[in-house]
Amino acid sequence: MLGDIKGFTREELRRFFAEEGFAKFSSSQIFNWIYKKRVEDFSLMTNLSKSLRDFLPRNFYFSKLELKDKAVSEDKTEKFLFKLKDSSLIETVLIPEPKRNTLCLSTQVGCKFKCSFCVSGLSGFKRNLEVSEMVNQFLYLSDYLKPAKVTNAVFMGIGEPLDNLENLIKAVKIIMDEQGIYLGKRKICISTAGLASKIRNLADLGLGVGLSVSLHCADDQRRSRIMPINKRYSLEELTKALLYFTKKEKKPVTLEYILIKELNSSREDAVRLSRLARKLNCKINLIPYNPCEYFEWQAPDKSEIEGFTKALKEKNTFFTLRKARGRDIEASCGQLRSRFEA
Ligand code: SF4
Repeated sequence: MLGDIKGFTREELRRFFAEEGFAKFSSSQIFNWIYKKRVEDFSLMTNLSKSLRDFLPRNFYFSKLELKDKAVSEDKTEKFLFKLKDSSLIETVLIPEPKRNTLCLSTQVGCKFKCSFCVSGLSGFKRNLEVSEMVNQFLYLSDYLKPAKVTNAVFMGIGEPLDNLENLIKAVKIIMDEQGIYLGKRKICISTAGLASKIRNLADLGLGVGLSVSLHCADDQRRSRIMPINKRYSLEELTKALLYFTKKEKKPVTLEYILIKELNSSREDAVRLSRLARKLNCKINLIPYNPCEYFEWQAPDKSEIEGFTKALKEKNTFFTLRKARGRDIEASCGQLRSRFEA
């Protein structure tokens, strides 16, 4: 048995079929059946040769995710908890908006990076997600949404996507493939806590997908306090890597900034953030912190948010103030999963 068919890119399948003496275009036909027609039974793929239909089940299988729990927020954000084959749990979030349906996908079981506001890091790192486990999150939710469509995908759920770069890239290629799911590169965004070396690797691949950085502090001392990754890659190194990405991909990155009460939401913080944003010529997403029982941090006061955004405006810094979605269903990454773990 070779493995899970949804773990292979079309190019990998094409090479494999060519080696086995099958027509190279079989990979496109199979992609079409699985990802466009959503057929997960080789015997029903009627335009494949009989010999290939016999060969496929001896070498490949179809994996599935098992839904363990689901929560729906008052604001319609939906959170899905999936059980994997080794009983690990991961979460996928669906964020419906009037004109789009965004999925927030997980890339690892747990996380190594232990950011001090994130539940995903609390129980440590277990393993990387396989390619098909990422693809299956997308497929499950796109089947669930029918006849509506998934319009955007952000790799921003449990785990640090760039810490699982090889599998992530394959999953992105499958999701972007024109013979398969065919979600446009501009509709896909990868998030990182700031793995500078991997940001450069991603830029070199030239996939054309967006990159967003969980910044949350624009000075090294406090950023290192809440995001230990900053001790490995300082803001200076991170900035250089982001400039490299911007130049290579010819598109700006996005800075994500969670406003936390009395931690990073002063006027001086806003001035530092706008200086960095100007250097990177990028946009900023501000998100008020979503408090949870695991951490001491609090949501910022209205006056803090107003003071912060006023300072950004004075500096002509482009930003969007987003709502914290799904507050009532523990939609911050890892929160639902943590309730099911000892
Ligand atoms: S914010 Fe991202 S990198 Fe940090 S602990 Fe959470 S999942 Fe990991």
